Amino acid sequence: MRYLSTRGQAPNLSFKQVLLTGLARDGGLYVPAKWPRFSPSEWRNLAGRPYGELAEAVITPFIGDDFTKAEIATVLREAYAAFKHPAIAPLKQLGPTDFVLELFHGPTLAFKDYALQVLGRFFDLTLRQEKRRAVILGATSGDTGSAAIEACRQCEALTVFILYPKGRMSDFQRRQMTTVTGKNVYAVAVEGSFDDAQDCVKALFNDLAFRDQMGLAAINSINWARIMAQIVYYAYAALSLGAPDREIDFAVPTGNFGNIYAGFVAREMGLPIGLLALATNRNDVMARVLASGEMSLRPVEESLSPSMDIQISSNFERLLFDMFDRDGGQLAAEMEKFRKNGKMVLADNGSESPMAQMRKIFTGLRVDDATTVKTMQKIYRDTGEILDPHSAIAVHAMSHHARRQERLAKHVPMVALACAHPAKFAATVEQAIGVTAPPPPHLAHLAEKPERLYTVAATPTAVKEFMLAHVQN
Ligand SMILES: *Cc1c(COP(=O)(O)O)cnc(C)c1O
Repeated sequence: MRYLSTRGQAPNLSFKQVLLTGLARDGGLYVPAKWPRFSPSEWRNLAGRPYGELAEAVITPFIGDDFTKAEIATVLREAYAAFKHPAIAPLKQLGPTDFVLELFHGPTLAFKDYALQVLGRFFDLTLRQEKRRAVILGATSGDTGSAAIEACRQCEALTVFILYPKGRMSDFQRRQMTTVTGKNVYAVAVEGSFDDAQDCVKALFNDLAFRDQMGLAAINSINWARIMAQIVYYAYAALSLGAPDREIDFAVPTGNFGNIYAGFVAREMGLPIGLLALATNRNDVMARVLASGEMSLRPVEESLSPSMDIQISSNFERLLFDMFDRDGGQLAAEMEKFRKNGKMVLADNGSESPMAQMRKIFTGLRVDDATTVKTMQKIYRDTGEILDPHSAIAVHAMSHHARRQERLAKHVPMVALACAHPAKFAATVEQAIGVTAPPPPHLAHLAEKPERLYTVAATPTAVKEFMLAHVQN
């Protein structure tokens, strides 16, 4: 499989190169040259298989010959062995057509583990094969950081730098990163928002001399391999509920658009995914795009769901690439205008226009903090399930999105993605429902461990200096 940049200028790469590259050198994101498509009978054959077997089938066409069948199988077996539930991604029923997919049974209790456990092992394998070192640089709004550190800390060929917005994550989230020991891992607080931290990361990736000097690699969802691994749980849930012979809808709590974009790819691979309900908190840039066709920036505001406190949804560019019929030149021009003016207007003129195509598949909903809390209370009262605030946003969108009545009339099941364990947001959960959500045993003593704290200004220069002072090689 070859990979293209969404901005059409960077060289085409193989899977292994994309894995280690992250952002394309023209500022774009890498996507496969073509979507692998399975026939209904191929999908039917995969129904009922264990998660790891399904993963192997879904992932292999994206890798091509870059890894052997045996290497892929080993990476996946070891990755999913780190999960604490035998189903890996268990599906629970909340109502006649309503389900939640629990994506928090990995080592750090958020859905990021489903991709990063795989990604970290592919990194390790590649660096060992090529006898080289690399430096991971990423920004986190809360959950990516710990998942990346957990996935990469055993890899001696890597130094990992994770930037997080100072004071904007839950204590549990911060401690998951700052209590990790090891010379090759640095969690660094940035004096700014997630978008500020992400801007520093993008600036350093675009500093090509520094990028080459360090051997920078990305673990954010700008890394294609993360999207790839996330397709698997959409397929797993859809096949469990009757696909390919029945349509399935999903509701997805959205920040950087990486998770929901994997749902779009699953649909391109031939699964009958009808609707993707995109749920945001008050940082509603993507809900506004779907409503108005206009993408415009607003400052990030803090909410009860910090992992979604994002106003620049990087992976949206990947969707736009397809909506612009894969015209990288046109997309590059639009992105440049957006960078200059802070605004992009998407055409909505006729059934083939980008907005019309998007609205066939996506519907958007903004969920405020009060509604998030009410949803946590209602679901706990009605079903006994304890939801974390991010999952509650998806569950609210499941029952309140604009096309709910039409989909109910067709008896289409909907799956809300539960992206974090409630223990990660214990204070919010306790305030909402008066119940303490204890963490699983392997994280029970987090509060007692010593933290390593570093702080830098939210500028690329400050981050660069920190990295140069601490990189291992
Ligand atoms: C990362 C994260 C999100 C947002 O996912 P994106 O891929 O950035 O859209 C939502 N909820 C939780 C719990 C997360 O960790």
